[in-house]
Amino acid sequence: MEKTSRIAILGGGIGGLVCASELNHRAGSKAEITVFDRSDYHTYQPAFLHLALGERKLDKIRRPLEKLKKQGINFLSGDIFRIDQENMVINAEHGDFEFDYMVISLGTQLDPGALNGFEDNALNLYTADGAARIKEALGSFESGKIVIAVSSMPYKCPAAPYEMAFLINAYLKKKKRRENVEISIITPEPQPMPVAGAEIGQNLVNMLEAHDIEYLPKQKITSIDEKQVALEKKRVKADLIIGIPPHSCPEVIKDAGMTGKSGWLEVDRHTLKTKHENIYAIGDNTHIGLANGKA
Ligand SMILES: Cc1cc2nc3c(=O)[nH]c(=O)nc-3n(C[C@H](O)[C@H](O)[C@H](O)COP(=O)(O)OP(=O)(O)OC[C@H]3O[C@@H](n4cnc5c(N)ncnc54)[C@H](O)[C@@H]3O)c2cc1C
Repeated sequence: MEKTSRIAILGGGIGGLVCASELNHRAGSKAEITVFDRSDYHTYQPAFLHLALGERKLDKIRRPLEKLKKQGINFLSGDIFRIDQENMVINAEHGDFEFDYMVISLGTQLDPGALNGFEDNALNLYTADGAARIKEALGSFESGKIVIAVSSMPYKCPAAPYEMAFLINAYLKKKKRRENVEISIITPEPQPMPVAGAEIGQNLVNMLEAHDIEYLPKQKITSIDEKQVALEKKRVKADLIIGIPPHSCPEVIKDAGMTGKSGWLEVDRHTLKTKHENIYAIGDNTHIGLANGKA
């Protein structure tokens, strides 16, 4: 009888779930697939923007990972503590598990504590809880300045701060409060979405200008203080600060010594194979060199 391959998918985010479903579809009974995640739910992060505007509810943007079992995919809830790539063992909340193949899809680690004052003075657009707090703040925001602050690069979804600014602009117009509110984006990027190229970046800058949204690129934020964003050479006053926190590769991957020079899991861009035998990686925890020289 043909041997069944044991495949571990580390992380039930978009990358992990698409991979699990596709492998299950293609390999059928030749593979036994197990998804690990510390959360019992898959939450669709792009909808955080709509959560922040009160256009979506949390239970409409997340699904229980237990549902994977209906497709014949195992789900193990709990933290992954250690990846032993030599012996193909995962040490997780429920014990040690041995596999033939691994796909690492643990996303990015958000490190709000890495920027002074972020946790106390900014509302975090990149968590469901933070988005819910933004909704509360916008609901009663009558006048003043809203700053969208990008802590550092790289960060996931480079379009999100710009989308947020345009959505807030439309929201305030609808509520007839826009003329009393200034909106500003502060970012270390040289242009919006650098990976998309100069032309798209300039088009976006023009759109921001047309909607009276101030744009401050190439700014290093040194701290976020109460109602103030501190830059290297000046301070910007704000009544509401919406922040994108610093990002890094998840600790468990760093601890396993699996990161490359980039600080992320480096993979072959054609096969998503890491340099470790039978270990692949997908999604935000990877570093993939692109044809245009960016990553
Ligand atoms: C506000 C916002 C808007 C966005 N908009 C877009 C968009 O319009 N288009 C787009 O393409 N992308 C968008 N994104 C980005 C997109 O959501 C991510 O690129 C995508 O979720 C990455 O998928 P992933 O599987 O790599 O990681 P994730 O979806 O982050 O999943 C990682 C999973 O690993 C789990 N995990 C991590 N560490 C451990 C551990 N030690 N033990 C157990 N489990 C662990 C986490 O719980 C998580 O479920 C947006 C993101 C945000 C925040």
